[in-house]
Amino acid sequence: MSLVKTEGIVLKSFKYGDSSLIFSLYTRDFGKVKVLAKGIKRAKSRTAPPGTFSLVEVVFYKRERSELHLLSSAETLKSFSGLSKSLNRFSWAAAVSELLDQLIKGEESNPRIFNLSLKTLSRMELTDESNPEKLFWSFALKLSTHLGYKPKLDACINCGKEIKEEEVFFSPERGGVICKKCAKEDEYYLKLSRESYLIARKLLSLDINKADKFPVDKESLEEISELVKSFISYHTGAKELKTLEFLRKISG
Ligand SMILES: [Zn+2]
Repeated sequence: MSLVKTEGIVLKSFKYGDSSLIFSLYTRDFGKVKVLAKGIKRAKSRTAPPGTFSLVEVVFYKRERSELHLLSSAETLKSFSGLSKSLNRFSWAAAVSELLDQLIKGEESNPRIFNLSLKTLSRMELTDESNPEKLFWSFALKLSTHLGYKPKLDACINCGKEIKEEEVFFSPERGGVICKKCAKEDEYYLKLSRESYLIARKLLSLDINKADKFPVDKESLEEISELVKSFISYHTGAKELKTLEFLRKISG
């Protein structure tokens, strides 16, 4: 057992007994870890329980043969309290943490994913009320890239030629767009308008701090969300996020 110190984003927490909590953290140095905070809910506890999404500096005892480590201390560096002030912001931030929790399998560090997640939450807290959804889909596209399955959107996956059609075919299975000439009749494709296709390319390539400023209409966002969902679920076996189901219900 060794004592380690790192920064982490609180993905979720759940009760353990009467006075303890288990935190699922996405950390800079150890990937996704679970830590047990003994007695943190007691009034006398020296550490206040950090809230969901907050960035914390944690010190914990890392156990070699266990997936549950022991928290020694946690100091909140950034609480992202602005995210809790609107249901819309809060829900899309929850979708970020749920997607990370689903796609990151274990204790493997990936500083690029850590920084992307942090930037996304920071931006979500500050951006206009209508933008968190756009940031989420841009985050999901970038996350797939960092996980090693970047969707190929720049040219046809078969012949490599530029896509010029008004209606663009995307194959979730093959992870990219395909031109009409190369498309096969018995293969499944998602269809996107040319506009949605060009926007998806932008959301994939733009820095996350600029993605929210890029104008996207509602129909395109809907098509892009279908593309990302089908692609991620094909490549990771991930189920639909509970947060997305919830967001759909509240938006009617
Ligand atoms: Zn082609």
